Amino acid sequence: MSALIDPYGRAITYLRVSVTDRCDLRCVYCMAEDMSFLPRREILSLEELERLAGAFIGLGVRRVRITGGEPLVRRDVMRLFRGLGARLGQGLDELTVTTNGTQLARFAGELAAAGVRRVNVSLDTLDPQAFTRITRWGKIETVFAGLKAARDAGLAVKINTVALRGENEDSLADMVAWCGDQGFDMTLIEAMPMGEVGAARADQYLPLSLVRARLRQRYTLDESDYTTGGPARYFTVRETGRRLGFITPMTHNFCEGCNRVRLTVTGTLYMCLGQDDSADLRHVLRREDDDAALEGAIRAAIARKPRGHDFVIDRRRPAAAVARHMSVTGG
Ligand code: SAM
Repeated sequence: MSALIDPYGRAITYLRVSVTDRCDLRCVYCMAEDMSFLPRREILSLEELERLAGAFIGLGVRRVRITGGEPLVRRDVMRLFRGLGARLGQGLDELTVTTNGTQLARFAGELAAAGVRRVNVSLDTLDPQAFTRITRWGKIETVFAGLKAARDAGLAVKINTVALRGENEDSLADMVAWCGDQGFDMTLIEAMPMGEVGAARADQYLPLSLVRARLRQRYTLDESDYTTGGPARYFTVRETGRRLGFITPMTHNFCEGCNRVRLTVTGTLYMCLGQDDSADLRHVLRREDDDAALEGAIRAAIARKPRGHDFVIDRRRPAAAVARHMSVTGG
């Protein structure tokens, strides 16, 4: 079976699967306060999601990341982790998850047992009040308990932090130190203009070029050639010995090496995070029992993968660059 190669010669080896559009938090840059979520009939069952992910693995995808919404609020989601975990070493090299950490205290052990070795935990501040403000109602203790459980279960943790103007910009240097103390790698992310969230994007946006320059006043950032094939550019913080990544969709186009596609919980495949074109795989999945048609539909979609995105945050263009929220594809 030939691998999935897109029109620009990039091999597609990484799939992100969103297992729900729901979340137990409402981060101000991610969702509007009052969101409407998908009706149940639109949503793929866990078996359907596993079959779809399996088709991608059959076509050469070697890494799968489960995301959401908040993936750990989907009922019985551990069944999917166990199902995909059984494919580790048989085509699949790595199974990971991106989570806000609120449910990790309950699930870290089961994730590890399913074969997950690394988790990305999104955390934008260490301050309890700022956490509640950013997430609109979250309690930071639940995330701290989750992080402890992850460590106890032997999971490697990477903290994902969105840089937010006027909100966490003055505490990012302290978070780098904290990650060093905890033994966590960290990635900083620029806020992207995805979906209406009831706030002006230009007010939230903080360029990471500025953040990096400020961090350099306190830390020595050594260039690193470490890469995950993803969009982050990594440095090693000499003072802590931990990795620090920068994801800069707004200030640096990171698309040249893109190896990934994103599947939503409705079976819609997005070939680019920053573009609207998509392919409906649910239709084929539910119509055909054998996977040949599904594989054909996946190949046809990959043949349409665009060269890259062009996000713009501009006060004169207040509408979101991409209409869907990040919670649809999970980042
Ligand atoms: N609920 C999980 C979590 O919190 O990690 C998974 C889904 S969440 C949408 C994935 C990541 O996207 C989180 O790190 C979140 O902070 C980030 N994110 C959400 N909206 C974003 C935006 N508009 N720009 C940049 N990052 C965003």
